[in-house]
Amino acid sequence: MEISELTRRVRAFAEERDWARYHSPKNLAMAVSVEAGELLELFLWTDDQSPGQPTSPERAARVADEAADVMICLLNLCDRAGIDLGQAVASKLERAALKYPAHLVRGRALKYDEYPSWDGSGHTAVPDDTEDR
Ligand SMILES: [Mg+2]
Repeated sequence: MEISELTRRVRAFAEERDWARYHSPKNLAMAVSVEAGELLELFLWTDDQSPGQPTSPERAARVADEAADVMICLLNLCDRAGIDLGQAVASKLERAALKYPAHLVRGRALKYDEYPSWDGSGHTAVPDDTEDR
């Protein structure tokens, strides 16, 4: 489903319940954080360190529900703040690709400004002696 269609449905859901009046950008930004916290809580005190699927179908369903809550709040926030989320994501990915050129940072988990050759220009070069994290 397209972001614009999801946004339309999220907006309609709130309007049908007269909840839009509570949806200031501040409240929605806080709601994004609260829902992200609920998502994190599902991983708290677990041994689940795997990069793949959560360990059970029930757990995966709960993670999906909380991920949806985060997305719903984020769509609401961007709608109310006049942000084109699709454009914002595309723009951010373009800038991230400049900070983290795949052929230079592949397999390394450093922040862009932790590479010794970082010069603040938006381009990153990976030195040979950098420890992986
Ligand atoms: Mg939730």
